[in-house]
Amino acid sequence: MFMPFVMGPSFLILLPALGLAIYAQYRVKSTYSRYSRVSIASRTTAAQTAKQILERAGIYDVTIQGVKRALADHYDPRNKVLRLSAPESTSIAAVGVAAHEAGHAIQHARGYRPLALRTTIVPLANFGSQLAFPLLFAGMIFRHPTFITAGIFAFSLAVLFTLITLPVEFDASRKAVVTLREMALVTEDELGSVKKVLSAAALTYVAAAAMAALQLLMILSFSRRR
Ligand SMILES: [Zn+2]
Repeated sequence: MFMPFVMGPSFLILLPALGLAIYAQYRVKSTYSRYSRVSIASRTTAAQTAKQILERAGIYDVTIQGVKRALADHYDPRNKVLRLSAPESTSIAAVGVAAHEAGHAIQHARGYRPLALRTTIVPLANFGSQLAFPLLFAGMIFRHPTFITAGIFAFSLAVLFTLITLPVEFDASRKAVVTLREMALVTEDELGSVKKVLSAAALTYVAAAAMAALQLLMILSFSRRR
């Protein structure tokens, strides 16, 4: 996504974020594979866990479905569907992730502002990240500042999305841990492992936000030098 050769040495500021992103990917994969092999003692499935959490929160209009890809778990606020990659699994990883996704459904039901904002800017952010680099390239080729400014604006939308994602994700994980404990759905030991899975996932969002913000800085410093 970045242009190291045209950008010159300023791309070096991305290296720490790139390192963090690679480390975060490794952490999330290794933690997930480790805890997807350990079952919780109660043998409650991920789907049952999500359902119980939703019902306790008074939410009855969210559908729980399976999704084929691994680590593709998500809550879809537009259709009120909670999709789990391993709904029938009783593993610590699957149950922890299910509780996290239920946390997003609770955010939605309670009108949690950052989630609403994120949902609103998703199409803008997708549009922005597709257009940003073609615009910046056009700006450099035609030496036209309007394209550069439009490119920077488009990329800022993508950066904004990665930043607004952080409070949404941290809050969903916090809700997951609190609820699992309050409802005694897992033991204290299991809860410690759930926290490891969720914090590994959170790190990937931090890395993505750092990467996007630094790319924006790099583009800004590059366009100023011109
Ligand atoms: Zn999430």
